[in-house]
Amino acid sequence: MKIPETLAIRLAKTAETAVKKGHPWVFEQSILKGPAGAQPPGSLCVLFDQRSNKPFAFGLWDSAEIIRIKIIHRGQHLNFDEDFLSEQLERALILRKSLLKNVSGYRAIHGENDGFPGIVLDIYDKTGVFKIYSEIWTPYLDALLPLISKIFQLEQIVFRRSRKLMENSEIPFSEGEVIGGALPEGKVRFEEYGVSFFAYPASGHKTGFFLDQRPNRHWVQQHARGKTVLDVFSYVGGFGIHALKGGAASLTSVDISAQAMQVAHENMLLNNLDSGKWNAVVGDAFREMSRLIQKRSAFDMVVLDPPSFAKKASEIAEALKQYERLAQMGAALTAGNGYLILCFCSSRIGMEEFKETHRKAFGDYPKWQIVKEVYHDVDHPVIFPEAGYLKTVIYRKKGIYS
Ligand code: SAH
Repeated sequence: MKIPETLAIRLAKTAETAVKKGHPWVFEQSILKGPAGAQPPGSLCVLFDQRSNKPFAFGLWDSAEIIRIKIIHRGQHLNFDEDFLSEQLERALILRKSLLKNVSGYRAIHGENDGFPGIVLDIYDKTGVFKIYSEIWTPYLDALLPLISKIFQLEQIVFRRSRKLMENSEIPFSEGEVIGGALPEGKVRFEEYGVSFFAYPASGHKTGFFLDQRPNRHWVQQHARGKTVLDVFSYVGGFGIHALKGGAASLTSVDISAQAMQVAHENMLLNNLDSGKWNAVVGDAFREMSRLIQKRSAFDMVVLDPPSFAKKASEIAEALKQYERLAQMGAALTAGNGYLILCFCSSRIGMEEFKETHRKAFGDYPKWQIVKEVYHDVDHPVIFPEAGYLKTVIYRKKGIYS
């Protein structure tokens, strides 16, 4: 494994303290002393303690981003080699062992939180989907990918690039390339608490499936018996298929993507579920929910799992308004004694702010009981505040008011 350069770095005091406490990012402006001129991406940065003058952390140099150094190890020594990478991968695998009894689709590497900043690895049975978000790993891919295959026992790896790396000519694998094996019909099957799904790792959103909502899908399966269910932003059917598996009386799925609905149909067949109970609606969530409200429809279980409306800081206020509107419509569509499951993915808005939008949206707030608040599952660990993006609140509408 060839390291392009080794760089000696000193940080401003506050940044030094933050890294010592475990924060994995060093911003460009926090570098007090660093290399002069451009450096190759992925150069190994040795961070020296201001007081003792000894190394206290190691990171990789990213010339393309304002988060200039991504920390890969804290401590006085590091042999950055295959053994080190293997140990990090083994550690990630051990963390997830408890899940593997019940599921064969899971996130195996969750970026910084597993010591691999800029990398996501999602596994669907014997297929790994490796998504690269930063060029810091370019020099090490040849070493890393075989180790991943070995440790996670994969037959093939699908290589995906983030949008900003689409054109990068230094990265030796192309978008969607299948390394080491084949992906018949472009899809892969995996299991999740007794439900089977197809994911399309080379063409779907992210890595082909939203593994992060697994605990909430499982909860839905366990509570859906006999219930009428509305799954809004249903993508390839995740929540709804779990609901039917759990014995739901009927399911309405709403998503704007006809293609996603097509895959949902495929997943429905895969699980031998009664498609006579299923009403698939391709359309805009806001419009379709308004329509259902006009018809005075109500469901025993309503799931709202929208995409992130707040990708940038400037979008937060507008995003909160949209969430409030969604929560309001979801509340209107929830029958007495019914469950309303509100999911949210953005690290820019905290749980309290999210619940505040519900307080505003629900009107008569006391009739809503919080049943459960859900954060990340073990395969999406969080080691710093910016990584905590996933929040779900499960409410129950008290029946006496219905
Ligand atoms: N609940 C899903 C994941 C949802 S991802 C699961 O558990 O797997 C978000 C989904 O919202 C995507 O499928 C996208 O097509 C859909 N979407 C985005 N904007 C929408 C809109 N305005 N109306 C309906 N669906 C929308």
